[in-house]
Amino acid sequence: MAYTVPKLTDYSRAALDRAVSELLSALGNEASKVKDESEWKTFRDRWMARKNGVLAQVNDLWLKGAPKEVKREAGQKVNLIKEQVEQAVAGAKIRYQIPILPTARVNSEISEVDFQRDAFAKSGRVDITLPGIRRPIGAEHPVIKTMHEIVSVFQKLGYSVAEGPVVETDYYNFEALNFPPNHPARDTQDTLFIAGQQAKPQRERLLLRTHTSPVQIRTMEKMHPPLRIVIPGQVHRNDPPDASHSPMFHQIEGLAVDTNITFGDLKGTLDHAMKALFGSSVKTHFRPSFFPFTEPSAEMFVSCFICGGSGRRGAEPCRPCKQTGWIEILGCGMVDPNVFEFVKENGYDPKKVSGFAFGMGADRIALLKYGVDDIQLFS
Ligand SMILES: [Zn+2]
Repeated sequence: MAYTVPKLTDYSRAALDRAVSELLSALGNEASKVKDESEWKTFRDRWMARKNGVLAQVNDLWLKGAPKEVKREAGQKVNLIKEQVEQAVAGAKIRYQIPILPTARVNSEISEVDFQRDAFAKSGRVDITLPGIRRPIGAEHPVIKTMHEIVSVFQKLGYSVAEGPVVETDYYNFEALNFPPNHPARDTQDTLFIAGQQAKPQRERLLLRTHTSPVQIRTMEKMHPPLRIVIPGQVHRNDPPDASHSPMFHQIEGLAVDTNITFGDLKGTLDHAMKALFGSSVKTHFRPSFFPFTEPSAEMFVSCFICGGSGRRGAEPCRPCKQTGWIEILGCGMVDPNVFEFVKENGYDPKKVSGFAFGMGADRIALLKYGVDDIQLFS
């Protein structure tokens, strides 16, 4: 039976309290049943409609008819009821919206509920009709959290996020990135190939991408320079799992292309990013290296943020930096003109544009940041 507002004849405190408590219990009960927008509107109108809503009836039946000596107390009760109805209507709306838009709504729910709770704390009352507070279950995975942090550092520098398929063709994973046909990374020892591709020409054969770099080519095919992108994603290698290797891991890669981009831009950008990630006191250090798709190439080290670069932690040797005071973080370099040749038609004439690229393993950085000593613990 739906709740109806009774006409009050007995205005004793006990009778008034009982009537209020019956009304609030019906309110809480109905609020808890609201499942969607249309039910919510019905609920809101039933309780708050100016004409004949429950509140309007309470006003008419309880307040207007109250004897003079209890009018003040009845007025306070009606005000309390009004507040509770408003809270319940707002709360019911937030509650049915949550399953539809999980992340976007959870924050607004918490802040709104906190706000309501504050209001009640100030008024010295507890609102038992409020829906319970839903908290998101669990926490972000340390690798995903690390990836978000890295991506956000580059987004603040004006980079946008690009993504691409995990199952790639040989062309995007190797050929267009200037891997000569006999490069060791093409060896089956390193790459996981999709079965049954032998009938296709080599460049069309499918494999699990071994790095996020194919997305550089895919993005340059779609967008003209200037370009600034950061590419997070999953990659696979045919590595047996141990404390520092996993057949599946995550990379974050960056690419900047424009006229007159120099190695100085590369160093300045990465130095800033490392300070943003590991603290303003870290130093960076570049050593020459080789990658097929960059020329010149470098490995970048940051001063060990665990021992402060001393190589020791008190009497103990610092293991993460192997007592050197430096930790290798990423590979980088100036985009090889041979790579631009593959996307020349889209405005990437190597005579006119230059660029830099860098890539880092997100899992390894998460291991360092959170002091975890086995990558298998992340899976
Ligand atoms: Zn160290």
